Amino acid sequence: MEFRDLKRQYNVLKADIDKAVSDTLERGDFISGASVRELEQQLADYIGVKYCITCGNGTDALTIALRAWNIGSGDAVFVPDFTFFASGEAPASLGAAPVFVDVDRKTFNMMPDMLEQAIQTVLAEGVYTPKVIIAVDLFGLPADYDKLRKIADKYGLKILEDGAQGFGGMIGGKKACSFGDIGTTSFFPAKPLGCYGDGGAIFTNDTDIERVIRSICVHGKGENKYDNIRLGTNSRLDTLQAAILQVKLRAFQEYELEKVNEAADLYNKYLNGYVKIPEIEQEYYSSYAQYTIVTESSLIRRQIQDALKRQQIPSMTYYAKGMHEQPAFHIHSRSDFLYPNTDYLKERVISLPMHPYLTAEEIEQVSTIIRQNL
Ligand SMILES: *Cc1c(COP(=O)(O)O)cnc(C)c1O
Repeated sequence: MEFRDLKRQYNVLKADIDKAVSDTLERGDFISGASVRELEQQLADYIGVKYCITCGNGTDALTIALRAWNIGSGDAVFVPDFTFFASGEAPASLGAAPVFVDVDRKTFNMMPDMLEQAIQTVLAEGVYTPKVIIAVDLFGLPADYDKLRKIADKYGLKILEDGAQGFGGMIGGKKACSFGDIGTTSFFPAKPLGCYGDGGAIFTNDTDIERVIRSICVHGKGENKYDNIRLGTNSRLDTLQAAILQVKLRAFQEYELEKVNEAADLYNKYLNGYVKIPEIEQEYYSSYAQYTIVTESSLIRRQIQDALKRQQIPSMTYYAKGMHEQPAFHIHSRSDFLYPNTDYLKERVISLPMHPYLTAEEIEQVSTIIRQNL
């Protein structure tokens, strides 16, 4: 069994993907080609925002968004403590101070109450200026944007939505990647919408920011690429990847997103009452970048993971460490901030095989092994 079976997906989509690739090879427009422009329009329409700018990967997407807002030294950027490293790496790489905030045990997402406390602490200290909240839609579930937006407005902060895992998620029919002042995603192969290499995208409704982002992605270009009005970088989505993503986006919209939700429902049916299953609140919809359960103890987790391994079933520990413990962030660590929920989750979480092509038999097999090893 595969954790995320990209081969099965390719077998289903092979004819269309092969054609998209060979069409691109024949056209030869490898950089900023026709498929890139078409995909950007399709993605903007799907998410329901004015602009989509594709780029090299999800980490670049976050970093470029922060650069477009001139975030750097002296600024505080609030980041959930339980996330993939890049969410904190992006602000830190620009010289800003990432301030890590504990997450909710049920949703795995940033806790609004703890966020407000962290903002007040930073303001009282007067060393850093609070600027941005990076809200991560962890495991496919959008963060609590109602509450986050109120806090952002109260303190004059921007929201950067890290939708690398959230693509396809929704709140009340509104799509993930549209909740932030800027939203970003990643097309890393294992993400909800993945290409066959690295890729990313940035979403916004802000016309001025869209222009700045497009410029940063191409060496700070002005009127053209040889007129450089700011320092930028080289971060673009290859035309080949865009062509592949056009095929995959269609499958994602037509059935893949529904299929992962059916798979989650089936896991829930088998596992409810045995381990803590993901709880999706009313109005919320997850794209299940991960299906993550919480066991009672690290001992039981070990037991389950060992048993799965004996049957050649892969499982992952997302995440084994809070950002506050990452050695790379030691200069940003604060002994006065506590992370009881990250510390609880990191000992107990298991992410199970999850993708649109998982069969009911496979889900039953995984669930049975878990139930027999509690
Ligand atoms: C994967 C991921 C990223 C980074 O995306 P890349 O395309 O790998 O650079 C950022 N944030 C989160 C939450 C992610 O899961």
